[in-house]
Amino acid sequence: MSTRRRTLLKVIVLGDSGVGKTSLMNQYVHKKFSQQYKATIGADFVTKELPIDDRLVTLQIWDTAGQERFQSLGVAFYRGADCCALVYDVNVMRSFDTLDNWHEEFLKQTNIIIVLSQGNLPRRQLLWKCINLFNLIKANLSDPRTFPFILLGNKIDIDGGNSRVVSEKKAKDWCASKGNIPYFETSAKEDYNVDPAFLSIAKIALANE
Ligand code: GDP
Ligand code: MG
Repeated sequence: MSTRRRTLLKVIVLGDSGVGKTSLMNQYVHKKFSQQYKATIGADFVTKELPIDDRLVTLQIWDTAGQERFQSLGVAFYRGADCCALVYDVNVMRSFDTLDNWHEEFLKQTNIIIVLSQGNLPRRQLLWKCINLFNLIKANLSDPRTFPFILLGNKIDIDGGNSRVVSEKKAKDWCASKGNIPYFETSAKEDYNVDPAFLSIAKIALANE
């Protein structure tokens, strides 16, 4: 019998209420989709085991229990994250516009101040400093520019893609501006690209571990 090393990775899923965060997790972990909207209650996280190379990875995926509306998720939610998956709905512009807030909120909660200077310089300058070394180490962050985020554009199934308001290019440009965040377009409903997205999440979290 092969003895794979076990590795626990914590992934947090952030984004506006209603974009499909819980649905993506349910599709990935339980292979189920529900049309009904239920504010998430109960467990803070779900887990899924998957082999990657010589490791047996336990992916611990943290969901918000509807508190994303109030943006008060608490430090326990963020602590020790190995990857942060941001989710928006390709049919809802607002959910794309708030990505900046979620991205910043994550970095702020993990006690990093970033000063983004755009000015007239030909290239952006990113300056960063840590204000809390303890939390910094806990969150495995060495540099916010390299912290593994991933972006998921969900609900691409709706109206065969005709009702989308955020183009793939626009989303990819945003990802490029944040240091080349990987991007996946998904449908929790049709189970499109859900496994590849979470596999990528696991791999980049593992690389950051
Ligand atoms: P959350 O608030 O981000 O956790 O969003 P939910 O997972 O609760 O989903 C909100 C609503 O969108 C529910 O009614 C889901 O059934 C629906 N939904 C989620 N993902 C998809 C998708 O990929 N396609 C479609 N058509 N509906 C989705
Ligand atoms: Mg939810």
